[in-house]
Amino acid sequence: MKKIVIVGAGISGLYLANLFKENPNYEVTIYEKNSSIKLDEGYGIQLSVNSIKLLNNIGFNNFNKEEIFNPEKIDFYEIKQENKICDLNISDFNSKDCKYTAIKRSKLVGFLKDRLDDNIIKYDYNITNIESNSGQISLTFNNTVENFTLIYLTIVPLFYENFKKIFYEKNYAKHENFYIFLTLVFLTFSLVLHQLLTKNQIFIFFLIPILTAFSHISLNQSKLKFKKSICSVIILICLFATFKYHLRYNENRKFHELKNINFQLAIDAKKIHKKLSGLNWITPKFKDNPEKEINLINQIFSILKKDTRKKMVITNYPFFSVILEEDLHAPSRVYTGDGTTHPLKDSDFTLNYKKMMDNLILKNNISVIYVIDKTDENVIFHYLDLYQHCYEKISLHSQLESYELKNCND
Ligand SMILES: Cc1cc2nc3c(=O)[nH]c(=O)nc-3n(C[C@H](O)[C@H](O)[C@H](O)COP(=O)(O)OP(=O)(O)OC[C@H]3O[C@@H](n4cnc5c(N)ncnc54)[C@H](O)[C@@H]3O)c2cc1C
Repeated sequence: MKKIVIVGAGISGLYLANLFKENPNYEVTIYEKNSSIKLDEGYGIQLSVNSIKLLNNIGFNNFNKEEIFNPEKIDFYEIKQENKICDLNISDFNSKDCKYTAIKRSKLVGFLKDRLDDNIIKYDYNITNIESNSGQISLTFNNTVENFTLIYLTIVPLFYENFKKIFYEKNYAKHENFYIFLTLVFLTFSLVLHQLLTKNQIFIFFLIPILTAFSHISLNQSKLKFKKSICSVIILICLFATFKYHLRYNENRKFHELKNINFQLAIDAKKIHKKLSGLNWITPKFKDNPEKEINLINQIFSILKKDTRKKMVITNYPFFSVILEEDLHAPSRVYTGDGTTHPLKDSDFTLNYKKMMDNLILKNNISVIYVIDKTDENVIFHYLDLYQHCYEKISLHSQLESYELKNCND
C-alpha cells in the first residue's frame, strides 16, 4: 500500500483525498495546520462547468439541489457609471449534468470532508519543510513544541533547579531527587512522543498538575530569591491549563472528530437503553439526524438479543456488551482502520493477528461473528475478508452482517 500525504485540508486537498479514497492501494493522510475546518462561513463561490465535471466524479451530482443555484445569465456592469457592459448567457456552456453553479463555500468543503474518514485528517500539523532523499520523502512539522507549551512551562523550574544542583552540589547525581527528576523527564518526553505517534487526544495533559507539583516541591527546597512568585506563576499556569482543557475537552467535547458537531441536536441516549440515560447522543456519521442512528442501533440490538449463541461483535459502538449484559468477545474496543487497532492487509503482523483471533474464537466457542456497519471503513475487517471460506456471510440488516462459522482447516 502506498502512503500519500496531502498538505492542507483546503478544497484541493480534500478533493484529492476523495479521489485517492476510491483506490484501496493508497493510504491517504491530510495534514492541516489549523485545528479544525471552518464550516460556518456563509460566503458563496461560483463553480465553472469544468469544476462541476470534476466534482461529479466523486458524487457531487447527488448533492442536495436546494443548496446550490444554477444561474443562467451574468450581467456585467461598469463599477463607476453602472453602465451595462454585456449580458453573458452562461447556460450556453452547460450540459445536462454539468451546470455553472453557485454554492456556499462551506457547503462544498463540508461535502468534500464528509465523504472522508475522520481519521484521515490530522489537525494542528503545520508542515514547515518537505525533503526528498533517495526516494524517501520526509516532512518536518513545527507543531511538536507548540502543542505542548504548557507542559514544558511546568517542567522548566525542575530543569533549572536540577541543573543548578548538578553543577554546584557535590554528588548530586547520586541523590534520589536527581533520579526522580530524570524519571519525570523521561516520562514527559516519552509521553509526548507517544502522543505524536498515537491517536490519543487528551490524556497527555494529566502531566501538567503532576509536573507543577514536583516543580513546586523543588522550588520550595531552593534558595531562589523569587521562588514564591515563580511558584504562584506555575500554579496559575496549572489552573489555567486545567480550566482550558476541561472546557475544551470535557465540556465542549472538542475532540477532533466532534469538532464540527452541533450538540444542540443531540438526544437523550436513554432512547437506546435506560443504562445510557443522562448521556446525550450524537455522532459525526449521523450528525444531522441522531434519531435515525438510534433507530438503527435499536434494530441491531433486538437482532443480537434474540441470538443466544456465543458471539463476537465487531463494532465501533463499544456499549453493546453493556446493554446486552453479555461478553461479546470483541478483539478491540474500537476499530480505527488505519493499522492502529488491527493490522492492515499485507502488514507483517497479519498472521500474528490471525492467531490471536483464532485463539479468541476457539477459546470462547464462538459460533457467529457479527459486524455492525461494514460500510464504515474503520470497521472493515480483513480477518474476515482473508478467511472468507471459513464463514458463511449473511446480511441481516443494512448495517449488520453475520458470519456463521463453518468447519475450516485453516
Ligand atoms: C475571496 C475569494 C473568493 C473566491 N471565489 C472563488 C469562486 O467564486 N470560485 C472559485 O472557483 N474559486 C474562488 N476562490 C478561489 C478558491 O477559494 C481557491 O482556489 C481554493 O480555495 C484553493 O484551494 P486550496 O485547497 O488549493 O487552498 P486553500 O483553500 O487555501 O487551502 C489550503 C489549506 O492548506 C492549509 N495549509 C497551508 N499551509 C499549510 C502547512 N504548511 N501545513 C499544513 N497545512 C497548511 C491551510 O490552512 C488551508 O486549510 C476564491 C478565493 C478567494 C480568496
